[in-house]
Amino acid sequence: MHEKLDVLAVAAHPDDAEICVGGTLLTLARAGKRCGIVDLTRGEMGTRGTRADRDHETSAANAVMRLALRANLELPDGRIEATIDARERLADLIRRHAPDVVLAHHLEDLHPDHAAAGRIAREAWYLSGLARLAELAGDVPARRPKRLYHFMGHVTFEPTFVVDIGPVWEEKLALVRCYASQLAPAHAKDEGRHFLFGADILQRMETRARFYGERIGARFGEPLLARGPLPCFDPLLVRDTGDR
Ligand SMILES: [Zn+2]
Repeated sequence: MHEKLDVLAVAAHPDDAEICVGGTLLTLARAGKRCGIVDLTRGEMGTRGTRADRDHETSAANAVMRLALRANLELPDGRIEATIDARERLADLIRRHAPDVVLAHHLEDLHPDHAAAGRIAREAWYLSGLARLAELAGDVPARRPKRLYHFMGHVTFEPTFVVDIGPVWEEKLALVRCYASQLAPAHAKDEGRHFLFGADILQRMETRARFYGERIGARFGEPLLARGPLPCFDPLLVRDTGDR
């Protein structure tokens, strides 16, 4: 039996999970929770950085996050498809590590790899709970994580909840800066800005984190989306954010 995780993020490329839910994972790791990330590709189609550079950067990010698991499904970068093979391999990994929560890309993300990764994660999450499929796959019993939440990429949405990442904001910046090859400016005139896929990622990340943080009375926040409403067992439960 593999080691049990509390949360597993499923990302298309190394650095997606860090940018979208790095603060959530840092917060959970600080609380002693076991966090994992499975990247579906190695990001080998990226314009910047060699594969060795990217592996090195991912290792540095793992150390910052204190991850219990970093896995890779080795799907083709730029060509991720929600195939039966992909979703069953991911379902097998989910059963083996038994996370309580899965974090996934939004299904309508503009990047086809992100949208496909979101779909693979959603389908694998569901399939992980089917007994007959688990029997076919091997020796690990069926087990579906309790929750699946989508994180925000290109497309914005009204979140179900926002995680207060104020206390770990500096760590999140250090985490994303591990991906130096991806942040390097493409042109001399861009010196001093931090680009990823042609956008100034650190600035955009901060704008978004401040916007969603403000909505919950925190300095910084990460938005997450559940498919339906979440249950509440104590309507009087109100907890102020401590980091304003
Ligand atoms: Zn990506």
